[in-house]
Amino acid sequence: NAPLAVADPDIAAQIENEVVRQHDGLEMIASENFVSRAVLEAAGTVFTNKYAEGYPGKRYYGGCEFADVVENLARDRAKRLFGADHANVQPHSGSQANAAAYMALIQPGDTILGLDLANGGHLTHGHKLNFSGKLYKVAGYKVRKDTEVVDYDELEAQAIAEKPKMIIGGGSAYPRQFDFARMRQIADKVGAYFVVDMAHFAGLVAGGAHPSPVPHAHIVTTTTHKTLRGPRAGLILCQAEFAAAVDRSVFPGQQGGPLMHVVAAKAVAFNEALQPEFSTYAKQTIANAKALGEAMQAEGFRIVSGGTDTHLILVDVFAKGILGSEAESALGEAGITVNKNAIPFDTNPPMKPSGIRLGTPALTTRGMKEDQMRTIAKWIATALEHRSDAARLAEIRGQVGELAEQFPLYGWLRA
Ligand code: PLP
Repeated sequence: NAPLAVADPDIAAQIENEVVRQHDGLEMIASENFVSRAVLEAAGTVFTNKYAEGYPGKRYYGGCEFADVVENLARDRAKRLFGADHANVQPHSGSQANAAAYMALIQPGDTILGLDLANGGHLTHGHKLNFSGKLYKVAGYKVRKDTEVVDYDELEAQAIAEKPKMIIGGGSAYPRQFDFARMRQIADKVGAYFVVDMAHFAGLVAGGAHPSPVPHAHIVTTTTHKTLRGPRAGLILCQAEFAAAVDRSVFPGQQGGPLMHVVAAKAVAFNEALQPEFSTYAKQTIANAKALGEAMQAEGFRIVSGGTDTHLILVDVFAKGILGSEAESALGEAGITVNKNAIPFDTNPPMKPSGIRLGTPALTTRGMKEDQMRTIAKWIATALEHRSDAARLAEIRGQVGELAEQFPLYGWLRA
C-alpha cells in the first residue's frame, strides 16, 4: 500500500505537473472550473470500489446502505437547488445525460431540432458523427446572421415546417440567454417535447443569476463540472411524470453501475451551490464576462452578438486576420488557456476557425474580478498582435504568473 508517488511515480509526476499548470496559468476555457478541496476529496474515495446498479432502496447489489444515503442526499440537494420534481444523479457525463433524456422521450428515427454546432450548439444536439445524429433525424436551427442570436419567429416557422418530436435549448458556445418560455410555446404548438441542456450555464441558474429552464422544459440536462463547479459528470432534472422514464433510460438504458465516488462529489458540490456565497460567485462570473467582453471590444475586437449575458464570450479574431487556432496557440505560449471556436456562419474550417471562446468561471473561482479581466484583455490583445514574437509572449507569461500568485489555487496540493 505504497502512496502514489512511490507506487507509480510516472503518473504522480504528471498529476503534480497538472497542479502546477492549473495554478500558474489563466484558465479561460469556458467549460472548465476548479472544484473545492471537499469535492476533490469526495471524488477520491473508496466509493470508487462500490457497485450500486439500480436506485436507492432498489439495488442489484448488496452492501449499498451507505451508497443509498449518498445518492439520496445528492438527489435531494439537486432537487432543492433547481426546484425540480425529480433528479437523476447517475449520468457519467453530459453526453450520457442527453442520451438518456432523449431515450426517455422519443424514438430512433424521430426528428430533433437543436442549435446547430457551428452556431453554438453541442455535438449531442444532432451532429452527424454523434449518437444524436445517427439515431435521430436532425433539423438544426441557427442564429440570425445580422444579430447572431436566435430568432424565435424563425425557430417557430422551422418547427412548423420540420415537425420535430423534440426541441433542444442550450449550447456550448452561445453567449446569450435562451427564451425558455417562448421555446416551450413553440414546442407545444408543434406537439414536441422541450429539453434544455443547461450544461454551460447551470451554475448561473443555481446562483440565481440566470433564468431557470426548469419550470419550462419537460427535461433539463446538465454537466456538473462547468459553472456548477462539481466533479466531471452529468445530471438530469425532470417533471414528475417523466421520472420513471428518465430513471429507466439512465439505468439500464444507457449505463450500468453509477460512479458512486462521483455521485458523492456531486452531492458535495450541490451543497456548496446551495450556500449564499455561490450566488455571489455566479453574479461575479457574469460581471467578469461582461467586463472582459467590453475590454476586448475596447482593444478593437469584434465580439459575436456584441456581448454576453453569461459566463462566456466568443471573439471573432479572424476579423483581425488571425485564425482561432493561431490565437489559441499564441495565448497558450503566454500562459492563457483558451479554445479555438467556430463562429456563426464561419467561412474557415473547424480546426482553423475564426474565433476563440473565452470564459470566466475558473478565474472567478480564484477570486478575480473586473479589474483583472481588463488587465487580461490587454494581455490577450498584446499576445495576439505579437503572436510570432516568442520573447513578447514569454514576457506576458511572466506577468500571468505574477497575477496567478496573487490568487493562489490548491495550496495544500502544491509541493
Ligand atoms: N452539453 C453541452 C451544452 C456541453 O457543452 C457539453 C460539454 O462540452 C456536453 C453536453 C457534454 O458533456 P460531457 O463532456 O460531460 O459529455
